[in-house]
Amino acid sequence: MEALIPVINKLQDVFNTVGADIIQLPQIAVVGTQSSGKSSVLESLVGKDLLPRGTGIVTRRPLILQLVHVDPEDRRKTCEENDPNAWKNGRLYKGVDGEEWGKFLHTKHKIYTNFDEIRQEIENETERISGNNKGISDEPIQLKIFSPHVVNLTLVDLPGITKVPVGDQPKDIELQIRELILKYISNPNCIILAVTAANTDMATSEALKVAREVDPDGRRTLAVVTKLDLMDAGTDAMDVLMGRVIPVKLGLIGVVNRSQLDINNKKNVADSIRDEHAFLQKKYPSLAARNGTKYLARTLNRLLMHHIRDCLPELKTRINVLAAQYQSLLSSYGEPVEDMSSTLLQLITKFATEYCNTIEGTAKYIETTELCGGARICYIFHETFGRTLESVDSLGGLTTIDVLTAIRNATGPRPALFVPEVSFELLVKRQVKRLEEPSLRCVELVHEEMQRIIQHCSNYSTQELLRFPKLHDAIVEVVTSLLRKRLPVTNEMVHNLVAIELAYINTKHPDFADACGLMNNNIEEQRRNRMRELPSAVPRDKMAGGAQGEQEGGTGTWRGMLKKGEEGQGEDKMKAQSPQKGHAVNLLDVRVPVARKLSAREQRDCEVIERLIKSYFLIVRKNIQDSVPKAVMQFLVNHVKDSLQSELVGQLYKPALLEDLLTESEDMAQRRNEAADMLKALQKASQVIAEIRETHLW
Ligand code: GDP
Ligand code: MG
Repeated sequence: MEALIPVINKLQDVFNTVGADIIQLPQIAVVGTQSSGKSSVLESLVGKDLLPRGTGIVTRRPLILQLVHVDPEDRRKTCEENDPNAWKNGRLYKGVDGEEWGKFLHTKHKIYTNFDEIRQEIENETERISGNNKGISDEPIQLKIFSPHVVNLTLVDLPGITKVPVGDQPKDIELQIRELILKYISNPNCIILAVTAANTDMATSEALKVAREVDPDGRRTLAVVTKLDLMDAGTDAMDVLMGRVIPVKLGLIGVVNRSQLDINNKKNVADSIRDEHAFLQKKYPSLAARNGTKYLARTLNRLLMHHIRDCLPELKTRINVLAAQYQSLLSSYGEPVEDMSSTLLQLITKFATEYCNTIEGTAKYIETTELCGGARICYIFHETFGRTLESVDSLGGLTTIDVLTAIRNATGPRPALFVPEVSFELLVKRQVKRLEEPSLRCVELVHEEMQRIIQHCSNYSTQELLRFPKLHDAIVEVVTSLLRKRLPVTNEMVHNLVAIELAYINTKHPDFADACGLMNNNIEEQRRNRMRELPSAVPRDKMAGGAQGEQEGGTGTWRGMLKKGEEGQGEDKMKAQSPQKGHAVNLLDVRVPVARKLSAREQRDCEVIERLIKSYFLIVRKNIQDSVPKAVMQFLVNHVKDSLQSELVGQLYKPALLEDLLTESEDMAQRRNEAADMLKALQKASQVIAEIRETHLW
């Protein structure tokens, strides 16, 4: 079996680093009748005296014997695993040639370096469960043998097939044992060693019979003929060994194990093999080369090797897939830094470009789950800000009483004949001022989004940046402070936009003409009414109708109105000319209560003022809705976009900072190394597999 060691070792090495499962070698089970020599065959394959053998029923529980290959180096590790202080204290293995040792599952951590003890423990453990009177049990004993001279292989020693119950054995002993055997050998990954003693009838071999049940094609059954030395005088196994009696696909191999006498005399494995060789040469010279324990081992080697080679293609695929994965992982980590200053410049530029691209919408990484970057700024302008402005009511926060009071305050001590212009200005300014807050809020929102883009860029776009946490933080810091610096400037501008609107109420604005026409008309009407000196008020419906009708056709403007009253002081003239209607006079005399029924005149005046305010407010709101986004773009977005690169370079591209900024996170350096090691291991694995595929062991 040792021929496989280098191959398996190579694979093992590879797999240890790669972390994949090592190829599962088939397990090898021996079947046959009682005392046919099963345990002896297994033992000679292992090359160690460790199994109880003897006449009668000796093997009464399955023995799962796992051979574990160890490097002398690993051995130390295994010792420490078992007893952390053992090695340090020199308690174990010191001075013992024990580079091989055994461990039972049922004795936990106990280490056996003496193989006689192992055999004794198997016997004890067999008795413990199966009793001392030939009883059997299907509960396996599990034994691991650690050695540098074995391959990782599982051998299963099974109780022999028996027909007649003896001792404590139950009546259906034959059935029970058969089932026990079948349980192990029906595993398709099990090579069956069907053991038959040469001094029994091969044609009726129970071993081959049971093997055929699970392996009818004989693809994993190897026949072993034991006790060649015990054949009756005058007979030989020629016909059997030539496969003439019963053909076995994988072959028939005759062996000579140690007799009971040899066992009693403690004949060792090596002597036994030498004697076996001599025996075969003498008795079967023509067949000697194809029989014997050594040949059996070689044949098993070949079977195992076949198995390994069958597994290789799939393994190779798996390794190639892994290699590809690690390759891409590794490249995502970037190369170790060689030229620091160019790397820094590159990273800064890349970040700045990504940042601008995210704003422009030309970023490589397109977010699909939510709006981001420029698109979100657009949304803020037109949806968030636009809608908020639209929801600002032109007369919000202004009651009729407020309007009336403003009108009265504007006229001072004189009773007013016409609606005073000053009151309109005062009131409209107050309303326009209300646009400032949502405008400033718009700046804030865009600022927040610009801040968010920083995260976006470092998360998705410039992966490499994550390698250098310090640089990342520094970039974030620079951009953040650049944004912060622009905030007051932009706010100031937006504040000014509103202030500009407040500074001068342009009643000559073309869009304002209609509203003025309306007012003008209203005044005309009033005057006409007064001229006619009608005692009663103009019917309200007529008034309203007129107002509506004039909306378009009105010739007058605000200007016009002023002109008309310009012969003297407009108001004065009116006042002098027209005797006031009763209720209008009353209005000025009576203190204005908080809530009361308004007179027709008051109603009219308020309506006029309110309409004017509304009309003018809409003009200003439109202006603000249009100009605030422009200001934000100019003073915040575009400014940052344009100066980002130079700002970053100016602040970060300094020789003194290089080393510090480009310190990789420990994590990253380690991860890169790991990935690189893994990749190397995988490449080596691939190579090893290729070599093994070309190896010819025979
Ligand atoms: P098992 O019951 O099938 O496991 O058989 P064992 O391995 O315990 O062997 C039964 C007995 O046959 C033991 O006393 C062995 O020494 C003896 N024996 C096994 N193989 C041979 C052989 O090839 N030649 C001789 N002379 N004795 C053998
Ligand atoms: Mg046995």
